[in-house]
Amino acid sequence: MKLAILSRAPRSYSTQRLRSAAQDRGHEVKVLNTLRFAIDLSSNEPDLQFRGRQLSDYDAVLPRIGNSITYFGTAVVRQFEQMDVYTPNTANGITNSRDKLRCFQILSRHNIDMPPTMFVQDRADVIPAIHQVGGAPVVIKLLEGTQGIGVILAPGLKVAEAIIETLQSTRQNVLIQKFVKESRGRDVRALVVGDRVVAAMRRTAKGDEFRSNVHRGGSVEQVELDPEFERTAVRASQIMGLKVAGVDMLEGEDGPLVMEVNSSPGLEGIEAATKLDVAGAIIDYIDNQVAFPQIDVRER
Ligand code: ADP
Repeated sequence: MKLAILSRAPRSYSTQRLRSAAQDRGHEVKVLNTLRFAIDLSSNEPDLQFRGRQLSDYDAVLPRIGNSITYFGTAVVRQFEQMDVYTPNTANGITNSRDKLRCFQILSRHNIDMPPTMFVQDRADVIPAIHQVGGAPVVIKLLEGTQGIGVILAPGLKVAEAIIETLQSTRQNVLIQKFVKESRGRDVRALVVGDRVVAAMRRTAKGDEFRSNVHRGGSVEQVELDPEFERTAVRASQIMGLKVAGVDMLEGEDGPLVMEVNSSPGLEGIEAATKLDVAGAIIDYIDNQVAFPQIDVRER
């Protein structure tokens, strides 16, 4: 097949691994800078230009859209979809998962368990919302945060209220979330490809930090996932419309609690922790979908 990887970071570990996995399997692959596309709306047929020239025909596109370019990036992916080029992650899937609130609204309609979460605007509603999720200590999250930045554990009601007011005064949207104590600074990342988990790791926070992000000093190890965690990760990805996703789950008392579904999961940590060929699994899945197209009723 002829595959385009949309990425602004051709030298990053994930992009390089995906490119060489495709080459090793005999595919023609190009890494294209997402921001160098021009979406052509002037003719009846949907069209795309790349670096000022007509884009050649591709069988599939693998979007790796960073947070800072979600709007333009998903517009490019949508254009590929309209040109009938296969993509494992649709523009809608990427948009829905990127916004934590929207992701939660969608998942909660489908019986996926998540940490109890509230979203409020008015000052008067802050304290009742904290009580509603179980009181302090409570987790406060910026809606658009990544890598653990903008995730705060507030020890008491007054501090929580002050933090939320401060953030809101700078026009930031915040989620109020129950602190899942029993997860003890650990979470699980499941890498979903198609309808299965191809690799999973546990991340453990460093010292008395409660955030297990690697960027916050967390460590990673391979983990054998409980079937309930596997099922939850695959269902959450399917509901979001993502065929390639990293699903982050806390280990709650009664099972998995989904925190986030990531549409451009990094491969470095999980391949290092598991020694598995995740990039190869992604390429094989796309190749199979191009060779034997499936109509997904959920996307129609
Ligand atoms: P980001 O998208 O920035 O990584 P997350 O929502 O994944 O933000 O949170 C970062 C880390 O903080 C998680 O990996 C987890 O270890 C910890 N964490 C997040 N929410 C909770 C919570 N409700 N209870 C306990 N720990 C949490």
